[in-house]
Formats: sequence, structure tokens, C-alpha cells
Amino acid sequence: MDPKKPPLTPWYLLGGLALLIALQFLLSAPPPQNLGYSDFKTLLRAGKLSDLSIGATTIEGKVDTDGIARLLPAAHVAELTAPGARKIRDFLTQRVEDPGLVGELDAARVQYAASAENHWFSSTLTWLLPGLLLMGLYLMMMRRTDPGTGPLAQIGRSQAKVFVQKDTGVHFADVEGIDEAKEELMEVVRFLKDPERYRRLGGHIPKGILIVGAPGTGKTLLAKAVAGEAGVPFLSISGSEFVEMFVGVGAARVRDLFRQAEDVAPCIIFVDELDALGKARGVTGIGGNDEREQTLNQLLVEMDGFDSNSRVLILAATNRPEILDPALLRPGRFDRHVAIDRPDVRGREKILRLHARRLVLAAEVDLAVVAAKTPGFAGADLANIVNEAALHAARGDKSAVDMQDFESAIDRVVIGLEKRNRVMNAREKETVAFHEAGHALIAESRPNADRVSKVSIIPRGIGALGFTQQLPTEDRYLLRRSELLDRLDVLLGGRVAEEIVFGDVSTGAEDDLQKATDMARHMVARYGMSDALGQVVFDAPRRSAFLDTPSPQEHPGYSEHTARAIDQEIAGLLAAARERVERTLRERRAALDALAHLLLEEEVVGRERLERLLSAPAPGNL
Ligand code: ADP
Ligand code: ZN
Repeated sequence: MDPKKPPLTPWYLLGGLALLIALQFLLSAPPPQNLGYSDFKTLLRAGKLSDLSIGATTIEGKVDTDGIARLLPAAHVAELTAPGARKIRDFLTQRVEDPGLVGELDAARVQYAASAENHWFSSTLTWLLPGLLLMGLYLMMMRRTDPGTGPLAQIGRSQAKVFVQKDTGVHFADVEGIDEAKEELMEVVRFLKDPERYRRLGGHIPKGILIVGAPGTGKTLLAKAVAGEAGVPFLSISGSEFVEMFVGVGAARVRDLFRQAEDVAPCIIFVDELDALGKARGVTGIGGNDEREQTLNQLLVEMDGFDSNSRVLILAATNRPEILDPALLRPGRFDRHVAIDRPDVRGREKILRLHARRLVLAAEVDLAVVAAKTPGFAGADLANIVNEAALHAARGDKSAVDMQDFESAIDRVVIGLEKRNRVMNAREKETVAFHEAGHALIAESRPNADRVSKVSIIPRGIGALGFTQQLPTEDRYLLRRSELLDRLDVLLGGRVAEEIVFGDVSTGAEDDLQKATDMARHMVARYGMSDALGQVVFDAPRRSAFLDTPSPQEHPGYSEHTARAIDQEIAGLLAAARERVERTLRERRAALDALAHLLLEEEVVGRERLERLLSAPAPGNL
């Protein structure tokens, strides 16, 4: 239960109780007059009673009130003899142990009979009605309370809520530093505003767009900006809210969501944390989440069900696209992907500037410096820094936010991020810069390697601290030995650069070394590219794929002697590659340093900048 929510208001309960009592009162009306047993006996003897019904514990009957004021004490009969009261009244008396009663009844010559005590009709009614009332009360509370409030609400309410915003008020101007993603979604806004233009040209308007990016990079912000720019309502729902629901509720919610969307179309549906809902089905094993599957299926059905004419665009966000059910990514569903990277130094400066607009900044504040100190920070982290700096300044009672405030804000935010393993210190950054520069420089020095399109030291995803992106110039179905050897060199470039520059190596090359080893093994044992062993295939390929990582061999089809020879050949290939790489890097050390320093400064170096750097005449630059 959510501890923040207030407890159940006792108002409903009090109201319900009052109603109950009132009802009881009404049902048993007109109430029989209660008589004390002695009064009963007196009236019996005086012949004032008739139609007696003798129960196990009570006696009921009628009493003729005429003249009884003389027989009983005034206080006992005040009600019976009140002016305007009826002459014959019902009465009720509690029985006491009285063996002579029947004799007296006979003597008084009254009609009497044994009764089955309560009448079934009224007794049923008195129990049934309060029951119904309680149920009504319960239903009322379920409807009135917010989801998640009170113990009852947990039973039948879904946690998932559709948030509808008529106008998000967010525009593309509020999104900075993620220009490529912004660009792509601007096009989508044009779709939404003028669908006819695209349809006339035969283009089809996308139904679903998946926005992929690390937490806090601005996925939600961007989705809202699309709605804001297009001037359409924004319906949002979060995938993680479906997970704990009861079977069937989530699916119904999705149905609701789409009906609602159709009503207000054109509009944008935003599904945050799609991965929580759209994890590949059947991977959970025993106790798999039926609810999630049903909800996912419903989402797929709904997406397939409406056509692009309905002008409902579905945006979804995830930071784990790899675990999504492939069904979600099929054509006609989330077939368009927009990736958001963490911002580079210039992007970070822009984001800082955007959020610092409202602040009074001291003249000395240089946001470019703040940006330089925050590699790997996402937009949300930067917004956080600006906010923390303002708070810090306020605490110090300053008239403007100064650099010192920003410093302490960075420290604060960094500590939070360090816990989540997301920032590099200066030393790590330098290591990564030389590592990536090594990869890139080797790739550019090898005739058979793919050209480098981008080098980056901005952490991407989990694990990768930097990356060097190579774009193959064409699709490849065959690789020559010389090409494989060059690839091997590129893989080792990072590690060897670290060795040459720092005289030490880091753990960052693990993945590279794994790939290099796999490639060497393939060359020796599969492709027959080893001189010593000849054209013998030792590891039968399980798959025909070229550079797939090999599946582990259970029963090698060769002798131990051969196994040793294979291992030797692999080690030999790697050692030779290492030597070649080291030679190149030493020869081009100046270029390596220049590229690494450029990376430290700019964090991302594109193809053009790289070419300029490498062609610049520098001492020792070949
Ligand atoms: P995500 O959905 O990717 O986790 P959000 O869109 O919720 O991230 O971002 C949270 C907040 O961080 C935004 O409301 C905004 O204030 C800030 N923010 C994130 N990215 C950016 C950006 N690129 N430009 C400006 N502000 C950003
Ligand atoms: Zn590497």
C-alpha cells in the first residue's frame, strides 16, 4: 500500500452506519409496546389482552388501552395512553419462568397460540437490506477513492492510469542537445499536421515510433514536444503500471486507452517504459506474468486494428530495446526507431543554458565549463544540476548563482550518479579517449578495414564506455584473409594504444579481446587460413553466419595434439597482429595523441573532423 495516500475517510462509514440504524428502525415499525411481565400479568387478569402469541422467550399480542391508566403506574403506560394513540395496540413482553401461565391464560379466556418467534419475512428483510446497503457502500467507496487508496481499492482497481493532457505546452525549443532525434520527430509532426500531403505522394504515415535512450535523456520530453508542436492531445500511460495488475484489467485498460484516443483524435498515445509491458513473451518461465502477456496482446491487437487514417500516433519509450518482444517491432507496429544518445559537450551546454534561463547568474558563470565537467550526463541530470545550484545559492543567501554553486551541484549530482555507475572520472576518460583513438587510427591505417564514421567517448548503454563506429562501404558476403587480419588489428588497436601511452592496461578491452580471439579461432579452425594446419576444418560451423561468435564445442573432433596446435596458431595470429598494431601506433604516435586530445575536448569526432586531423601535416604523422 502506498504510505503517502491518506487513510480511508471515516465519513463513508459513519454515514453508512447511520443509514443502517435508521433502516432497522423503519423496518420494525410500528414498534410493539414493551410491557414488563408484571404489567402483562395485571392486564391479562383485567381482560385487556387478546390474540396472544407465545414464543420461547417473548409473548406478543394486542392490548386494549381503554382504561388501563387506572390499572398500571402512570409512568408505565404514558405512551399507550398518550392523546391520539390508537385504542388497540401491539405489545411485546419478555417471558419469565412462570409455570402457572397457561392456567391463567385459560382462566382469562383469551386466544393464545405458540408462535415461531420471528416472522421469516421481516427477519430476512432486516438482514438482507443492511447487507445490500453494505455492498452499495463498498461499491461507492471503490468508485470514489483514487486507485491505490485504502485497503478496498487494492482489490479491484488497476494501478494504471491514463493521463490526458489537452495541451502539453512543450515545444521543440524546450528540447536541446539531441538534435538528430529532434529532427526525425519534427518530420513526424509534419505528418500529423498535414497527412494529406504525405498520402497523396503515396507515403504511409507511421503508426508507432519507438524512442530508445538512456534514462533522463528526454524521451518523454520529446514525445510531449511532438504533441505540443502538432497541437494535439497527449495520452500517456506507463508500462510498468500494468505489471502488478489482475488478469484482464490491463487489457481492458489498453482497450479504454485506444477508445479514448479515437474520441479525441488526432492525438498522441505515449507508452512509457514499454519494456516492462513488452518483454519477450515466454521468457519468464514458471509463474510467467499472464497479465502482462494479455496486456501486450491487447496492445498488438489495438495497434493492428486501427488504420493510419485515424490519425492516432503511438510513441513508446524504452531504454532496453533488446528485450522487447519482436512482435512489437514488426511492420505496422513500432517499426520506426528514434535513438537518443547522451548529449555531447556542446549539447550539454545548450541544455544547461536552457534550464538556467530562469536563474540569475553571476557574471563569472561559464556554462561551457560546467558542460565540460559533466561528461556522460543526460538532460535530466543537467536540469538537476541547475536546480541544485540555485538551491545552493539560495541557502547561502546570495544575490546570484555563481560558479561555486555549480561546482557543489555537480558534486552532489555526481555522487548520485556514481551510485548508479554512470560517470567516468578524468582518468578513466583519458584512458577511454586513447583506447578509442587507437581503434580509429588503426582502422584508418589499414587498407582493408572499414572507414571510421564516428569516434565517441560518451558512454553508451551499459558497459560500453566509448565506441568507434565503422561503416562498411558495401554489404559483404565474403571476407578475404587480408581483410580478417585488418579487422583483427582494429580490434587490438584500443588495447595496444593504452599500453603504449600509459604503460599499463585496463579492463576496458575485454570485449575487444574476446572478439579478436574468436576471430583468430575462426580463421584457424574453420576457414583453413593457417599455414601450419592447412585447409582442415576443425570446428564444424553450427551456423553458416560468417563472423558469428562460435558455439562452444562439446566434443572436439580432433586430438589433443591438434588442439594444442590450434591454440598455438591462434596465439600466433594474435601476437603477430599485436606487433603490427604496435608498430603502426608508434609510427603515428603524434596522430594518436592529437585524436585522443580532440576526443577529450569534444567527446565525439565525426568523419570529416577525423580526416582533417589525419591529413594535417604533423611531425611524425605519416
Ligand atoms: P526520459 O523520459 O528519457 O527518462 P524525461 O523526458 O523524463 O527523460 O526528462 C526528464 C527531464 O529532464 C525533462 O523534463 C527535462 O526537464 C530534462 N531534460 C531531459 N532531456 C532534455 C533535453 N534534451 N533538453 C532539455 N531538457 C531535458
Ligand atoms: Zn575497444
